[in-house]
Amino acid sequence: MEDAAPQQPGETSRDVTLITPTAPVQSPTHGGRAKCLQRLVRLDLPVPRTVALSFGAVKGIAAERMPDVEALLGEFAPDAVLCVRPSSEDPDWGGPGAVLNIGITDDTHASLAEQIGRAAATALYTRFVHAYAVDVARLDADAFAGIEAEGEEGLAAALAAYEEEAEEPFPQDRAVQLSQVLRSMARAWEGTTARILRQAKGAPADAGLGLVVQEMALGLGHGECGSGVLQLVNQSTGLPQITGRYLSQSQGREALAKGAASLYLERDPRGPSLEDLAPEAFSELLSHAALARKRLRAEMQMEFTIENGRLFILDGVVVTGTSRAAVRMAVRLAEDGIITRQEALMRVEPRALSELLHRQVDPEAARDPIGRGIAASPGAASGRIVFSSAEAQASAARNEPCILVRRETSPEDVRGMHAASAVLTERGGMTSHAAVIGRGLGLPCVVGANRMRFHLRRRELLAEDGRLFREGDIITVDGTNGTILSGAPAMVEALLDDSFQTLLAWADAERDIGVRANADTPADAQTARNFAAGGIGLCRTEHMFFEPGRLTVMREMIFADGPEDRRAALDQLLPMQRADFTELFRIMTGLPVCIRLFDPPLHEFLPTDRAGLRELAEALGMAVSDVTRRVEQMGEYNPMLGMRGVRLGLTVPEIYDMQARAIFEATLEASREDDPVVPEVMIPLVSTPREVEIVKTRIDAVAAAVKTERGRDFTYRLGVMVETPRACLLADQIAAHAHFLSFGTNDLTQMTYGLSRDDAGRFMSDYVGMGVFEEDPFHLLDREGVGELLRIGVARGRRGRKGITMSICGEHGGNPESLGICRDAGFDYVSCSPFRVPVARLAAAQFAIRDKIEAG
Ligand code: PEP
Ligand code: MG
Repeated sequence: MEDAAPQQPGETSRDVTLITPTAPVQSPTHGGRAKCLQRLVRLDLPVPRTVALSFGAVKGIAAERMPDVEALLGEFAPDAVLCVRPSSEDPDWGGPGAVLNIGITDDTHASLAEQIGRAAATALYTRFVHAYAVDVARLDADAFAGIEAEGEEGLAAALAAYEEEAEEPFPQDRAVQLSQVLRSMARAWEGTTARILRQAKGAPADAGLGLVVQEMALGLGHGECGSGVLQLVNQSTGLPQITGRYLSQSQGREALAKGAASLYLERDPRGPSLEDLAPEAFSELLSHAALARKRLRAEMQMEFTIENGRLFILDGVVVTGTSRAAVRMAVRLAEDGIITRQEALMRVEPRALSELLHRQVDPEAARDPIGRGIAASPGAASGRIVFSSAEAQASAARNEPCILVRRETSPEDVRGMHAASAVLTERGGMTSHAAVIGRGLGLPCVVGANRMRFHLRRRELLAEDGRLFREGDIITVDGTNGTILSGAPAMVEALLDDSFQTLLAWADAERDIGVRANADTPADAQTARNFAAGGIGLCRTEHMFFEPGRLTVMREMIFADGPEDRRAALDQLLPMQRADFTELFRIMTGLPVCIRLFDPPLHEFLPTDRAGLRELAEALGMAVSDVTRRVEQMGEYNPMLGMRGVRLGLTVPEIYDMQARAIFEATLEASREDDPVVPEVMIPLVSTPREVEIVKTRIDAVAAAVKTERGRDFTYRLGVMVETPRACLLADQIAAHAHFLSFGTNDLTQMTYGLSRDDAGRFMSDYVGMGVFEEDPFHLLDREGVGELLRIGVARGRRGRKGITMSICGEHGGNPESLGICRDAGFDYVSCSPFRVPVARLAAAQFAIRDKIEAG
């Protein structure tokens, strides 16, 4: 054995610590496993004697500064068989595999044989030689895998193979064995591959490794011997259930190996169980597990060994389960009084909730990926490929699930999207049309999959690896992680159980920012209500014009020759809008509904292909050439910065007049004496206060007219969408005319960066990959730039009008980190897609709890 190098500053005797109830062992210095073992020792559980080596000690070992190994061995009985296991700060970061049966030599083999029988002792010695040869001495595994002999012969062959390969005999000094094991594990942690793997799981570059050296309960020998794991909860469902595995005459995690002839734990008519074989140990194990759950305040998996009927607890690991299990486990622990409600809320990852709201690809199912894009709307669905909305509708009529594959979607595709099970687009980003509508509908959606080839005319889709998929082929869109899969893997269904509702009710009691939903249709509104949204924060009215029968009238309105003709077309749209709004108000009874006046450029409603132009020409009684010319005339170079929003409202005022009338008439229809509806009307794309003044005057006039005609009174709240940088800067002046300001962070991000919402998908992944953007700013709100404009807007807006309501209605409201930025900026509420409402409710609660904890 090499001489121990001198101790370095920072390496103290605490670096090698016997785990006792009071020993100075902490997760940040000794790792999670060491700390957990101390907790089990404190509970007086039968944990074999264990020594913890700190991160500092292990770092020293990797650099050839060995601790006093003789002293370390002195902590154990002279012939104790030992194991060494890794103890990283976070168990998820992994570590080198455990090495068992350390300390067996030719000499101790004999005494071990007396204790547990010759055959068992020989088996353990042989296993140790194999493991040491391959994992510690790094000898060629094949030299040992080929040994067929068993028993004494097998051992002799293993020792001989070792000597042959290592060119020295198998070490017979326990200290040498242990030193080499420690060194190989310490070095493995420093290896490049291990470092990359753990960094991918979030470990910092300098993450440390602790090691625990533990006396072994052997699991092999006379009487009932074996090892296994047990937990009191099913990690897939989160429901209470004794689960685990036990294998007689086994060690470590052998019981969990595929094909192991493991036994049942509880008595079971189908076969022998641990309860039959060792009833006392079993009941002791159950009570230890229950105690660990209560005192360690988590569902724990207990790793145990039985030695001649006697139980030892080797380890306890926190059970991590599926998202649905995580919710149930957290809620049950709180309901059992083991943790507080606040702790339960902090234990569930908000994003995990959205997995529960949608069908998902079964995590166990085999996946055959064919492409990737932006995960724009969560959930997964399989179906036959269709390349147009008309085919999607035909497919739905045949009750055949389909995946709508488009270069990008436009408002014309909304009906096709309704009919499809999922959407895949070549272009677009987090706030492109397909993404926004997909999230609103709860429809799985992947956008910007531009590494696949979309041959729409040939009705073919080429996978990233070159495989060809045709119309009718079955694929799966996994909108949770942005992948496209070939075929239809097994799915797990969405599940909203009582625990989910309970957790969110607790969240509502904690949070200090409101959560509303963006909802355009009665179905959206119903979803918003089901998810307990605090109201509708944005109803994008233009989506209503794509309903069957309305598009043609809409187009007539667009093509109208003057205000009179336009009004005639709008008169046809009025009752339809009124009915829409009445239904929304009714569904949302008692809650606020914010309706945004018409926003998009008009040409979005016009056909783009020849067949559509011909159809329109027929409907309008015009020549195709005239229709084509008019459509062309309406084209804009930069439609998103052109004739849209309030600009349209001012230049074609009849549209807003009609919408205001529809809102007010619906208000009266849906109002009850004791529960009047107070609609919120919002003006989009404002950049100057004068725009608000002009629109307000007209809307007030419409309100006065409706009141006079109906002989009934009502009130309404006028709001402005702040989605241009200028509106943020002039928020004080704008606020003077408004009851509320709602910040549209989709457009605001687009305009602050000068980055097209619809085209950014093309280079976004490159930009994020190159580290130019930390994240897609349409996905994660940009704290520095857009965030600064929000903060300016809030401060100036409140200066302009005291008590004004401030909100966010861009997609960012449903993203947990972005929600935190909005909360810090002082917004009253966020509004996001209905399916993101639960995520936002939980995330908001977590921010509030964190602040309360910090405030002490
Ligand atoms: C926005 O711009 O943030 C917004 C909510 O409006 P839209 O997405 O409809 O442009
Ligand atoms: Mg907008």
